[in-house]
Amino acid sequence: MSILSQPQYNPLPKSLLNTAHHHQCLRIRIYCSTTTAAAAATTTTATATKPKYNSQHHLVMAPTPPPQITTPPLPPPPSPTNQQRVMLDDPTLKSTWSHRAWLATGCTTVAVSLLKCVTGAVDSHTWQEPILAGLAGYILADLGSGVYHWAIDNYGDASTPVFGSQIEAFQGHHKYPWTITRRQFANNLHALARVITFTVLPVDLAFNDPVLHGFVALCSGCIMFSQQFHAWAHSTKSRLPQPVVALQDAGVLVSRLQHADHHRPPYNNNYCIVSGVWNRVLDEYKVFEMLEMVVFFKLGVRPRSWSEPNSEWIQEETQTEIPLLK
Ligand SMILES: [Zn+2]
Ligand SMILES: [Zn+2]
Repeated sequence: MSILSQPQYNPLPKSLLNTAHHHQCLRIRIYCSTTTAAAAATTTTATATKPKYNSQHHLVMAPTPPPQITTPPLPPPPSPTNQQRVMLDDPTLKSTWSHRAWLATGCTTVAVSLLKCVTGAVDSHTWQEPILAGLAGYILADLGSGVYHWAIDNYGDASTPVFGSQIEAFQGHHKYPWTITRRQFANNLHALARVITFTVLPVDLAFNDPVLHGFVALCSGCIMFSQQFHAWAHSTKSRLPQPVVALQDAGVLVSRLQHADHHRPPYNNNYCIVSGVWNRVLDEYKVFEMLEMVVFFKLGVRPRSWSEPNSEWIQEETQTEIPLLK
């Protein structure tokens, strides 16, 4: 909005005003009012209309009616229901028998480790150390989930050996975060279950120490289920089972509020997705930013988060159909 004002305009010098011809001089006062961009756009129309004068021969700019802006009607937006249905019908969200098999082997190896922990503790009558080891495993699993999440969020692409599919999945997750809540259970967990199978199975076969298995069982179990905790962090409160909400509120599982910050600019924090207990310290001390600098200066590779806000991490509009928080 602009205000245009002009002082009274005398077309002749003051000394000439009291001449025999001064009655012929037209003293013009232009009254202008606040204008908007829309009104400014109608200047052409205003100048084309016939000027009007009041009784003191003051030119009065008659108010002009608001311009009649005629815009062609917008095409109807795509139906959210249809759009959502297309997303939910995506076969990549569904579990296959292969996914279920990997999840079963992952769960079995973790269960064997847990069983060895319990039986070893019973046999040795030592509970304190295995429980403390399990607690350490749970806490370190959160750190491990953060490091892993940071790495695949920022480096590599779909063609990266071994991790390519995980990297692609996490990139897609940033574009359509809400789809994780519709991804079927085994589909969501099978990739980590496969990693757990290959790492925990040798430990199961080689060791019987209850303290070691206390650590391994809790750490590997939390890492394997971290994607489920992640999915719960994206769900709405009303859709979650009450015990899950209670665990989130207690900080045992990563909270919806904390993880929501991961999906907002600058997209470089709150990577941990088990309990989220490490997020504050890692972000406060800028641990990942320091690691990114080390990688950049040593290898010349820029993390994806430095490219914000222009990267593919910007969420698609369909995300708003299922709110991140409630
Ligand atoms: Zn992420
Ligand atoms: Zn997420």
